Amino acid sequence: MPKLALTIFSVIIFSLTISCSSQEEISPSPDFLTPTFAASPSAVISLTPEPTKVPVPTPSAPEPGPLTDVVPILIKPFSGEFPLINFFDHDLPFEFHDPNNYQLTWWGEKTSGINGHDGLDFLLPTGTEVLSAGDGVVVRSGISDPFYCPPLRRNVDDSLGVEIAHKLSDGTTYITAYFHLSKIFVAKNQTVKSGQLIGLSGDSGCATLAHLHFTVDRFPGTNNGQRVHVDPFGWDSGLPDPWAAHKDGSKSAWLWKKDQAPLVFREENNPLTNSGPQIKITTLRWMGWKDTENPNNEFVQLEIDSQVGTNIDISGYTLRNLKGDSFVFPKGSIIRKKIPFGIYTGSGIDTGDVVYLNQLGGIWDDMADCAILKASNGDTVNEVGYGGAKCP
Ligand SMILES: [Zn+2]
Repeated sequence: MPKLALTIFSVIIFSLTISCSSQEEISPSPDFLTPTFAASPSAVISLTPEPTKVPVPTPSAPEPGPLTDVVPILIKPFSGEFPLINFFDHDLPFEFHDPNNYQLTWWGEKTSGINGHDGLDFLLPTGTEVLSAGDGVVVRSGISDPFYCPPLRRNVDDSLGVEIAHKLSDGTTYITAYFHLSKIFVAKNQTVKSGQLIGLSGDSGCATLAHLHFTVDRFPGTNNGQRVHVDPFGWDSGLPDPWAAHKDGSKSAWLWKKDQAPLVFREENNPLTNSGPQIKITTLRWMGWKDTENPNNEFVQLEIDSQVGTNIDISGYTLRNLKGDSFVFPKGSIIRKKIPFGIYTGSGIDTGDVVYLNQLGGIWDDMADCAILKASNGDTVNEVGYGGAKCP
């Protein structure tokens, strides 16, 4: 995490004039690179910014690493995008039995979450459609045998899930699994198509809140020849993959079809009430895919509580993290009522309601942190924490 020096708008505005497009996910087309008078219509359109609407960045879409095996067979098992609340822990995916207190992401970053998580947890609200991630055959459908659930401290006997086998022509089989469902629409031995509706999400089984627990297993080709959990995002770090080196582990390949990998973002949400502080940090998006390269993955949203009837001038307020980095809102910073005020960590074009901190890497800690909003007199206005951080 790079040091976030005290930053003021004049600095931001100055540096934006020399690096305003560095965070955009736009690859220049050949038309763009070759000077020509016969520019294509699309090139002309992309050169003309809309005057009133500046696009705000979404979390960067993950891509396979240069050394990752790519076996493009899966699509995203839902429509839309949802926070990824638990990663596949490459060190090591022994759920509830891995004591190291972190999850190791596929790009080699440590983050907080369920120790040894063996799949991907997406925060789908109850009743969201869950889709088959590929063509295949249902090998399991229904309620799992009862088992002890450490987070709930009791046995669970209502875990509703579906498993689908996808056999490749080279003999490898991948099995996708979908758990905590509230409804199932497919039966064992049924053939399903990629994208077919197989169930609805929920919180059945070992879940403290509604989400989709999505796992992928493969066999053979694993270190012990058995069916083994793998990460559908593969492995993309300069360090060796602990799971690929483990005697009961496996190498993970990138399994997503083109443009089908789910977006990766972790965020805290703090909805408006009619009795809270005047200004709330309603969203703190604190982690995405490779924040060091994509600092605009990080995002803070401020909103005026519904009890307040006017705009609020936040000139002189500061936004801080636990490490002590702080950002001062300059003169003229105003949150308009009913209009969210966005703060991105990277660079971009400021508007009245969106500012960029112009940092080269992430500022919110990937394990635990607090976003603290202080008024100009030093009083804390609102704070949001995650990962067990103790906010001051
Ligand atoms: Zn899970």
